[in-house]
Amino acid sequence: MMLRTRYDVVLLLGAPGAGKGTQARVLATALDVPHVASGDLLREHRSRGTALGQAARAYMDRGDLVPDDLVVGIILDRLRQGDAHRGALLDGFPRTLAQAAVLDERLGEHNGAVRSAVYVEVSLRVLVERLSGRWLCRACHASYHEVFNPSAAGDRCAACGGDLYQRPDDKRNVVENRIHVYLRDTRPVIDHYGALGVLQRVDGDRGIEAVRADILAAAARPPLLYQPTLSTAAVVRG
Ligand code: AMP
Repeated sequence: MMLRTRYDVVLLLGAPGAGKGTQARVLATALDVPHVASGDLLREHRSRGTALGQAARAYMDRGDLVPDDLVVGIILDRLRQGDAHRGALLDGFPRTLAQAAVLDERLGEHNGAVRSAVYVEVSLRVLVERLSGRWLCRACHASYHEVFNPSAAGDRCAACGGDLYQRPDDKRNVVENRIHVYLRDTRPVIDHYGALGVLQRVDGDRGIEAVRADILAAAARPPLLYQPTLSTAAVVRG
């Protein structure tokens, strides 16, 4: 349904708690590509007890980033799977400039590119508020909030009936570290895609439906490429 390059990747960028996971499912369906979330892939490795999952555990529980080589490996493996042959929606990746460099290079080798990097911008106060009330489905990873987006099925998942749980790294002190790590390591990634002219900003401080409509519109919009009057600073301010 949308304009594609040969191998199209759309990124969903934003701080932890910006609501990326909630929106990513809908956006992936609209784009007709798989939703590839690095955090979900890492949690799957942990629950399967793989060596990678065990190596990632301590970093995740502290709210630190898992080392680039581990995360890059699982993402590139996932992108090689058949359902991703025309592209993917990446959620939570890349989180460092080194990850972005590998992604850009790999896409370039396949005649592809990041077509759009949708940046969901949310204020710090709202981030902490959202993360500390978050509940996730163990089975389908759907995300709820006890105040802003409760499950219609009470303590079960409204989508699949699965068990809801709170992530251990959603505790307040870990949340604060995750936000600190985001500001230090991931903000430069946002600047990077701003400089490439593919950044689309969405005001994420609003309700789920309003943000969703803007994300869908932003992902459909052609990139800002080659607009000489827009400096990088203007594109990424805030
Ligand atoms: P998320 O579900 O995206 O909030 O990710 C949960 C945790 O997984 C993060 O706090 C990191 O420890 C780890 N993680 C997820 N994606 C990445 C990534 N791209 N690079 C490094 N660590 C990651």
